[in-house]
Amino acid sequence: MIYSLKDVTKKYQSGNGAVRALDGLTFDVLPFETVALLGPSGSGKTTLFRLLNATLRPTSGELIFDQRDVSTMSSRELRQMRRRIGTIYQQHQLVPSLSTLENTLCGRLGSWSLLETIRNVARPTKRDTEKAMAALEAVGLEDKHRARADELSGGQQQRLTIARVLMQNPDVILADEPFASLDPALTETIASLLLELVQNGKRTLVATMHDVDLALRYFPRVVALRHAQILFDKAPSAIRRDELIALYGDTFKLKDDVRLDPDIQEPSGEFSYKQHRAR
Ligand code: ADP
Ligand code: MG
Repeated sequence: MIYSLKDVTKKYQSGNGAVRALDGLTFDVLPFETVALLGPSGSGKTTLFRLLNATLRPTSGELIFDQRDVSTMSSRELRQMRRRIGTIYQQHQLVPSLSTLENTLCGRLGSWSLLETIRNVARPTKRDTEKAMAALEAVGLEDKHRARADELSGGQQQRLTIARVLMQNPDVILADEPFASLDPALTETIASLLLELVQNGKRTLVATMHDVDLALRYFPRVVALRHAQILFDKAPSAIRRDELIALYGDTFKLKDDVRLDPDIQEPSGEFSYKQHRAR
């Protein structure tokens, strides 16, 4: 188990009382699993990521990372944990004026002090340059390593955020809407790239996305959050249309080429979602 959550709750204190952003979540994530996290805006997805990467603590409940209870970790252990988790945030967080290579080198930021970062990005070691170039090659950007980040197209910038997270060599990647600003064709390309890199690199991936169709086609496990709670947690082949309507409301529609069987009762491991697609 890489993560184990038991009855995890997170409350924020705000001007007009407490907001319960997560309410009694219980689930595990296995090493090398790829999980899609779905849920309407405000359902608690980003808050959950911030608990999973230990930048926030649960208000109550138990959060175990790699067999260690996060609440008992020292600040040194928390830093070590954070280094093993790479987060791709909703906003790109690239440095526009730095080159593609320099932005990739910034991926090691978690293991460097500020001074080291400035030095190591300005004058990287041969080893770090090689690592960064390998990361850029993995995402198909090696030819662009000298280009400024703000000269890259949207799809290239998204590849760069992936290269930067690979530079960190994390065990876990948390990706908060990594496909949000991409057109449908690019979304497919970047999604396959990310999943391929995660699988080849033996990493664990949890990704949020608004495109339900994409989640159902690419991820073997879908966790749905609604009103701070888990609405369902299952294989795409077992998800019913009414569950998706309960998640997003009556206006919810899948793309035409995806067909869900309203009568499926049992999730089945072998059953591939692809078999469910009307071709
Ligand atoms: P999502 O990412 O699914 O849109 P969030 O985790 O951002 O959801 O938010 C869940 C709930 O917590 C929302 O009601 C939001 O307004 C609230 N919330 C998020 N961050 C804070 C914060 N820093 N302070 C107070 N309330 C917050
Ligand atoms: Mg969010």
